[in-house]
Amino acid sequence: MNKMQFLQSTTNKYLFIVSVLGIIAFIAIYEFKIHSSSEWFITIALAGAILLLNHHPIVLPPKGNSLSMDSSIFLACLFLFGLNLTLTVLLINSILFALTQRKIVWWKHIFNFSSYVLMITSTYYIFILTGGTIDGIHVNNIVPYLISFSTYFALNVFFIGYFFILAAAESFESVFRELIKEAISPYLSTLMLSLVLAILMSSERLFGLFLFTCIAFLLSLAFKQHFHLFKEISEKANKDFLTGLNNHGYFKEILEKEVTVAKESDQPLCIVLLDIDDFKKYNDLYGHIQGDHLLQEFGQLIKAASEVENYPVARYGGEEFSIIMPNTPPQRAISFMNELRKKTNDTYFEGVESLPYGCLSFSAGIAECEIETYNISELLNKADQAMYAAKDQGKNLVQLYNQYSEYSVQRSLSLEKELEEAEQQLRIFLSKDVYTYRHSKRVYQYAVNFSRMVSLSDYERKTLILGALIHDIGKIEIPRDILQKKEKLEPHEWEIMKKHVTWGKEIISVNKRLEDLIPLVELHHERFDGNGYPYGLKEKSIPKLARILCIIDSFDAMTTERPYQKTKTFNEAFVELRACSGKQFDPQFIEPFIAMIKQVDEVAG
Ligand code: GH3
Ligand code: MG
Ligand code: MG
Repeated sequence: MNKMQFLQSTTNKYLFIVSVLGIIAFIAIYEFKIHSSSEWFITIALAGAILLLNHHPIVLPPKGNSLSMDSSIFLACLFLFGLNLTLTVLLINSILFALTQRKIVWWKHIFNFSSYVLMITSTYYIFILTGGTIDGIHVNNIVPYLISFSTYFALNVFFIGYFFILAAAESFESVFRELIKEAISPYLSTLMLSLVLAILMSSERLFGLFLFTCIAFLLSLAFKQHFHLFKEISEKANKDFLTGLNNHGYFKEILEKEVTVAKESDQPLCIVLLDIDDFKKYNDLYGHIQGDHLLQEFGQLIKAASEVENYPVARYGGEEFSIIMPNTPPQRAISFMNELRKKTNDTYFEGVESLPYGCLSFSAGIAECEIETYNISELLNKADQAMYAAKDQGKNLVQLYNQYSEYSVQRSLSLEKELEEAEQQLRIFLSKDVYTYRHSKRVYQYAVNFSRMVSLSDYERKTLILGALIHDIGKIEIPRDILQKKEKLEPHEWEIMKKHVTWGKEIISVNKRLEDLIPLVELHHERFDGNGYPYGLKEKSIPKLARILCIIDSFDAMTTERPYQKTKTFNEAFVELRACSGKQFDPQFIEPFIAMIKQVDEVAG
């Protein structure tokens, strides 16, 4: 039996047990005695009011969960007339509800009835046991009232919450936290309102009930309007006003979620950035208003094509659009985009005959999310680079990002200029901690040499070298006494030391041009076996360059003087690297690295 089947059968058992318990409780407690005609009258009125309020619940943003005011009426009835009459109201109401709501399956009606029986009877006995009296509303009953509310609320949360845990396979903690956070204040107010209703009814019986029901009904309408407005506004906040597609901000939110899902479920995911070709020319020829019109029509075209595959589409900005393709490998993404490209070429839009291709066209870049993709910015960067490559190759093209292509280097700044910038940042260590300065310079030199030995794209090579130079920048934040301590670090000092990767990430995050180095700075202390920090990432979920930097960094640490550790010779360090291969280090780079060190050593020696 798989997990879903198990949950399904447990849910059914749960529903069955609650239903049976409720019915047994009802039969055991309920007295089938004839009420007086005035009691019947009030019973029917109460049941009718509940029915009306159940049809008009209070809808709450953000998810539109609805809250019925029926609890106010049940509790008021309990406090004024006692348990038996309240159960009669419940029985009549449940029958009427089942007759009016035939679409709801019968066992849900039974479950509902039973859970209300259990809630109402437990609340009643708790009320009586804590000293509550059933004859009008009195201030000296305040403690029993409060205890009854808590009981009723707790049972309701329990019945609903447990159902969610089973049916939606969610965790106990998250369901209850969510329920309590969302429901506590509106729910408690409906419970308190039961006292208001009871006071109204004890002075004006049916007229009191009528007043209360009217107010609750009008409140429900007001809340509905309010919720409608909320939905409208939140939709507007997520949509681009010109094309009606998702806007840039919302697109990133969706992408973030989809990337997480793809990584967790190991499904392929591609994203596309596309940019209309020569749109400036179209604007110049026909004016911005017609340009806007074209953007709208084109937006509809890509939306229609993407909807078939359930791909979210967004206007990324200006005349750039983006498509998220969950569960889609690159080859399928390419063929989908090529079909869309042909369709765009073949669809007539007013005035496109004056464009260079004689039709509307776009250039698109596709990037695939991989397990080692660090974040959505990296993914978008890759798609962007591929898109520019498509433009460079003559437009009206679809290009998949390829790390080994020249274009990925062309679009970035020259290495020298960035090295200079990184070096500037590093100089600050000269006065504070000369060890870190020298260590960074050596790690940088190893990275330069090693990047020639392994097959890296130019872009990766550049990122590794720059990352090597700046990887310890976060140590700037560490107090001197810890940095320069001669003895072994205390555990709390060690905790501070470990924070340098996070601080380093924060320091370089402020410089957009150093963005690509973030994974190296933050993740160079992750271990291949998952026992590193800050996240404990494992194997390929650590970006490749961070895995390489980890080896270089550790090799330099072993072979140079450290305050609290004996220096190893190169040969001793090789032994250590091999011993930790597959544990701390990615095995595939160990031998090439050792070969590189030997080679350089030979040349130097
Ligand atoms: P390329 O093929 O290289 O993409 O050339 P292009 O002309 O499409 O690109 P460029 O970036 O030079 O120009 C983009 C133009 O898109 C410039 C800008 O006026 C226009 N644009 C951006 N947003 C809007 C908009 O909302 N409405 C209109 N009508 N034009 C827009
Ligand atoms: Mg553009
Ligand atoms: Mg363009």
